[in-house]
Amino acid sequence: MSHPALIARVGRQLHPRDRTTLFHLAVHDEWHAESAGTTYVPAALRRLVHERAGGACEYCLAPEATALFGHEVDHVVAEKHGGSTSEDNLALACAACNLHKGSDIGSIDPVTGDLVPLFHPRRGRWTEAFQLDGANIVGRTASARATVRLLQINHPDRVAERALLVTARLLRPSG
Ligand SMILES: [Zn+2]
Repeated sequence: MSHPALIARVGRQLHPRDRTTLFHLAVHDEWHAESAGTTYVPAALRRLVHERAGGACEYCLAPEATALFGHEVDHVVAEKHGGSTSEDNLALACAACNLHKGSDIGSIDPVTGDLVPLFHPRRGRWTEAFQLDGANIVGRTASARATVRLLQINHPDRVAERALLVTARLLRPSG
């Protein structure tokens, strides 16, 4: 069922006041998607992305269950660079990683100074690209190092949060 059709069906069952709220939420959602220049990701595809990632950010491993803001479906290669809204170009990203990544697809490796593509969760394995060093995430490849830097994965606040997750054994490197 399409997004507007679902909204219409749910809306008919609601009190008029709640219907207005739902309408405003729907308008905001569409507006948000358009203003970000991204195609609306259908619910089934969003579900696939969440389940495939085990509910954890595919860049910094943060579990959605303990995140303050919901994780987001990230176009690994942004649409403005020709990336498609298909499962092989989508990844689950926490709000912080997604915010810092924006529509970027490459950055500078802090070690070599080379311009390199960012880590692509569908083309590389996290455990081969990164490793956990205490609560720090260390890039093992040029792409991974550039990704850690650009996405500010080791910002002190994020490392402090991650330390709690490591202690609670809630951080699981996989894939
Ligand atoms: Zn993240």
